[in-house]
Amino acid sequence: MKREDIHGAARFLFSCKPWLVLTGAGISTESGIPDFRTPQTGLWEHYDPMEILSRGVLLHRPEIFYGVGLQVLLSFEKAQPNRAHYILAEWEKRGWVEGVVTQNIDSLHHRAGSQRVMEIHGHLRSGYCLRCAKQFPMEELEKQVMQGQIPPRCPCGGVIRPEVVLFGDLLPPCFEEAVQLAHRYPLLVIGSSLQVSPANFLPSYAPSLVIVNLTETPFDHRASWVLRGKASTVLQLLHEELESL
Ligand code: NAD
Repeated sequence: MKREDIHGAARFLFSCKPWLVLTGAGISTESGIPDFRTPQTGLWEHYDPMEILSRGVLLHRPEIFYGVGLQVLLSFEKAQPNRAHYILAEWEKRGWVEGVVTQNIDSLHHRAGSQRVMEIHGHLRSGYCLRCAKQFPMEELEKQVMQGQIPPRCPCGGVIRPEVVLFGDLLPPCFEEAVQLAHRYPLLVIGSSLQVSPANFLPSYAPSLVIVNLTETPFDHRASWVLRGKASTVLQLLHEELESL
């Protein structure tokens, strides 16, 4: 990545703020959470998420879902936001970011201070009963699983599941909000392979596109600027450049 690219992308972004931001697993790899597709470190190498994190397995093989799948997800809980998460929160405060649409379930945007976060794949902060919809803090699910109560149960007898979107689930209503915003604001994509639908519909709706990612994406040819590098490094350079404009 050349310095002129940072300069050009910053000038472009400055001219069309505020932006909608779409983040993927790549923004959190520097917080120690592996993504699904980077070779060697990607979670796909060790587990098949379509199996262990599916609605079918949750309902029919709960010992796999709660004993393996949920444990992988809960290992994300110790991670801390990195510089890229904090810069996005700062840009929102300045009015440069309209909102963050994230495919991540790690809550790191919230913890970095972002206010308008659309978690289109849910989160791990709570769970709910599949029978009566009662909400539970995540600690309640964890406690029951630790005590060998698999699947964890609500007092009504229903199964409690985490608020995360599983393969086979519908997306939450905030996806519709993200679609509306994507039609109105330039889109800044950070750390996403743009291979997962329907999150990867958003770049086609956006009036313009800037991509920050370590590797190629199917939308690179449509982007005004593609910045190939680590999210925290690229965002720090963009931040310095934007501040000087
Ligand atoms: P992905 O794994 O498909 O793609 C991640 C992309 O980020 C890759 O193209 C990779 O080259 C790039 N990348 C990795 N490290 C980077 C860095 N430091 N800076 C910039 N780019 C970097 O991820 P996705 O597009 O989000 O889709 C996968 C699905 O996996 C999503 O549905 C998401 O819910 C789920 N997921 C979430 C987490 C999380 O919550 N942190 C982690 C793994 C997977």
